[in-house]
Amino acid sequence: MSGVTVRVPAKVNAQLAVGAARPDGFHDLANVFLAVSLYDEVTAAPADGLTVTCEGPDADKVPLDRTNLAARAAELLAARHGIAPDVHLHIKKDIPVAGGMAGGSADGAGALLACDALWGLGTPRDVLLEICAELGSDVPFSLVGGAALGTGRGEKLTELPVGGTFHWVFAVADGGLSTPVVFGEFDRLAEGVDIPEPAASPALLEALATGDTAALAAGLANDLQAPALSLRPSLAATLAVGTDAGALAALVSGSGPTTAFLVKDAETATAVAAALTASGTCRTARVATSPAAGATVLPAV
Ligand code: ATP
Repeated sequence: MSGVTVRVPAKVNAQLAVGAARPDGFHDLANVFLAVSLYDEVTAAPADGLTVTCEGPDADKVPLDRTNLAARAAELLAARHGIAPDVHLHIKKDIPVAGGMAGGSADGAGALLACDALWGLGTPRDVLLEICAELGSDVPFSLVGGAALGTGRGEKLTELPVGGTFHWVFAVADGGLSTPVVFGEFDRLAEGVDIPEPAASPALLEALATGDTAALAAGLANDLQAPALSLRPSLAATLAVGTDAGALAALVSGSGPTTAFLVKDAETATAVAAALTASGTCRTARVATSPAAGATVLPAV
């Protein structure tokens, strides 16, 4: 076998409710994940030892050492089975790096599935999900895709029904925002404020289940938006451009700095993307739909 390629989607958080900091520093979350049709591809090929390469416009921002989540996934899977992590991992990167769209998590889930197939391990799904949770809070969702509610640190997943296709535009910003730094800013802004227990909004879950774009637009909410805007005030201008161009709703994607725009159809998506690109308030704009399938092994070519 020459290699196994897995395609993995990015995510947007339709709702990200953040609780107060716990004694261990993590936050309880109610995280409504929606997979979107922007994909990385991870190829696992036979090799002596573990190596990682990456291609794509953001490739220079991706670490190629053992801190890469794809490499860590290969190591954890090999350790579970008591074998050496002999694999070459190649990442074809299309998901913005450090953009709040779980690109690194996608590569972790992709590498896990690709190595499992390459090494012929047949690891049960629940064990793969355990390894994903060990890799990071967003990794289990990258494996599962579709839509899901994440609780705990976001890693305990309940799959959610989705009753239609949603159209999105994503404005990719210059430079990333570090997720821990954004949570730190959340804590700073939350000082002295009574933070409620995070809970998923029933109206939002209903909007997803019925495929009602207008209701979803009304329910989109991200508690990391205020800290992301506090750290990167220029994102407010990007949000305004998308809304003025006809988006039904605009929000920061996860910890940012990517911004997400929900639109009513594909035609509006093209118009909003053109307005965002022309505005000069972002690096580039991408059109996508949701839900998208989770990590999937592609047929050999
Ligand atoms: P999330 O939405 O899960 O908070 P993110 O999309 O904001 O994450 P990532 O693209 O996952 O951010 O990257 C965050 C950091 O993780 C990067 O700056 C990089 O140093 C590191 N990293 C490790 N592995 C990868 C990978 N495979 N791809 C991209 N970044 C990686």
